[in-house]
Amino acid sequence: MTIGNMFKGIRPFVKPYKWLVVGTLVMTFVGSLMAQVNAVVLDWTVDKINSLIPLGEGQWGEAIRILTLISGILLGKELVAAVITFAQRYYGERMRILVSRDMAQAVIERMLTFRVAFFAADDNEPGKLQTRIDRGVESLSNTVKNFFIDILPMFTSAILALILMYAANVYVGIVATCIVPIYFWITFRQAKKLKGWRRGMRTYREAKSHGIMNIIESITVIKSFNRERIEGDKQLALQNALTENQMTTRRLSFLYDGLKSFVEQIGTVLIIILTAYLVLSGYPGMTIGKIMYHIMLFNNVSAPIRQLHRIYDDMNDALIYAEGYFDILNNDVDVERGGSYRPEKVVGEFDIEHVDFTYPNGTKALHDINMHIAPGKRTAFVGLSGAGKSTIVNLLDKFYEPDCGSIKLDGVDLREWDTQYLREHIGLVLQKNHIFDGSIEENILYGNPHATHDDVVEAAKKAYLYDQVVALPKGFDTKATNLSGGQQQRVAIARMFIKNPPIIFLDEPTASLDAIATEQIKNSIDAIKMNRTVIIISHNISQIIDSEMTYALRNGRVEQSGDTEEVYRRGGIYKEIIDASARSLNIGKIADLLDDGKINDSIVINEREDA
Ligand code: ADP
Repeated sequence: MTIGNMFKGIRPFVKPYKWLVVGTLVMTFVGSLMAQVNAVVLDWTVDKINSLIPLGEGQWGEAIRILTLISGILLGKELVAAVITFAQRYYGERMRILVSRDMAQAVIERMLTFRVAFFAADDNEPGKLQTRIDRGVESLSNTVKNFFIDILPMFTSAILALILMYAANVYVGIVATCIVPIYFWITFRQAKKLKGWRRGMRTYREAKSHGIMNIIESITVIKSFNRERIEGDKQLALQNALTENQMTTRRLSFLYDGLKSFVEQIGTVLIIILTAYLVLSGYPGMTIGKIMYHIMLFNNVSAPIRQLHRIYDDMNDALIYAEGYFDILNNDVDVERGGSYRPEKVVGEFDIEHVDFTYPNGTKALHDINMHIAPGKRTAFVGLSGAGKSTIVNLLDKFYEPDCGSIKLDGVDLREWDTQYLREHIGLVLQKNHIFDGSIEENILYGNPHATHDDVVEAAKKAYLYDQVVALPKGFDTKATNLSGGQQQRVAIARMFIKNPPIIFLDEPTASLDAIATEQIKNSIDAIKMNRTVIIISHNISQIIDSEMTYALRNGRVEQSGDTEEVYRRGGIYKEIIDASARSLNIGKIADLLDDGKINDSIVINEREDA
């Protein structure tokens, strides 16, 4: 990223505040004028006083008049300068805060449009993304502020001072100008040398915050395995690398800073020698006052140059972090694209043909998948962990796009469907559903923001959640994150009831629940299944056994498919899994227990009723 590109990127964020910019520019100019007043006043005063000494009889009045005048001018100027500095700082800071708000919001809104693949990339882990955005916004908005309250005022003042120097004496002006490029050259060398180290710093910082987040997220696992030391050591390696990087950066900075101070002093010495020589040799217009005048003006020229490395460092930081920020903001590749197909009615018939799929990290998860998901029916995906079941659901929900082949819904390629419209018609319940920071009611309403409280109550009842919620002191206003795993799962199912979609994907919805919760959730799911296209992934036999169609997968390929009972009879992976589940449940023993009559009352009663 170049400085030009960076400012081009910043421009749209500053544009809304153009009056603030104009005001700051005017103040900058007035402030720069004020900065030259001291030199002019001192020049005049020295020459005036020089002409008066030795002070003759009756000249005290004149001397007092001069002193009163310069005191008035200097104090008045300070007063104006104080007001201007205040306004400049305040407006500069105001601009920084406003720009920083807009930049943060812009990148958040942009990120929300990205496809899921963006977030699955290794480089975009949460901690890394967060650091990239925080640092990017911070350094870019600081650049805006620095530009208006450091760079612009100082450089305007330097240019004005140089003009005054040239106007008073061309030779002195030339000497002052000669020092500037040397100084610039050293600063650029410094920046170039430091660039790699500073970029390294960004990578280390991202890794550090990712590491901290990882520790916080896994704290119970770390503690239960007594792995505090190991985790600490992992971070130590990173800290050491970061420290070394920091040390090198600092050492190089201080080295160059010393060199620059030296060059600046050479400049001042040259100006003193030259002006003194010109005064002594009686050069026209060169009075004693002019020695002070030029030294003070040169000070104004070198002040911004003295700050140049800091500004340059900040700017370099901004360039490095801006790269990360604008990479996200201007990322077009990852924006989720969709067509415009929005049919009146969604039937729910999927056709998958010759689909391969590879995750962004290179894991090939699906090979030549062919499926027909019948509308209004229940289809089970069965297979060992890692077989690719969830991946297919991810593709059907358009979270990812297949490498090749086609996926059609109701005869139309998913790519042509309006993505949001498609997802409005799909309900997804996962093993662990994300519960948002908010009340139970808010979490259920996530399924349909336009629903009423009565709808929420109704949905909670269907999801076997209502009785538990009303028993809580705050009822539906209870924080949903405080609920147990089973209760959170019911919130997710209530969310689905309130959304009421024609297509439902259930990805191990009861995997982490106890038997009672599993049974209740099975009942809820049975209720929701009516006349909808349902795909269920589950290790729980009871949930897959009554589906009408089954696909058995192994290593990303469909190994068996067809009518559920027939697939079982044929033998193979599906039968192996069902038999193993039955054995693991100890079904024979359970059947004996149920048969002894005591526990089986309800079943006997049901049978009698049927008869
Ligand atoms: P299943 O649902 O059958 O247990 P998945 O569809 O979750 O299996 O996974 C299929 C394969 O894809 C596995 O090898 C898994 O490691 C890999 N995989 C799943 N999710 C991701 C991801 N976000 N990034 C990379 N690889 C993934």
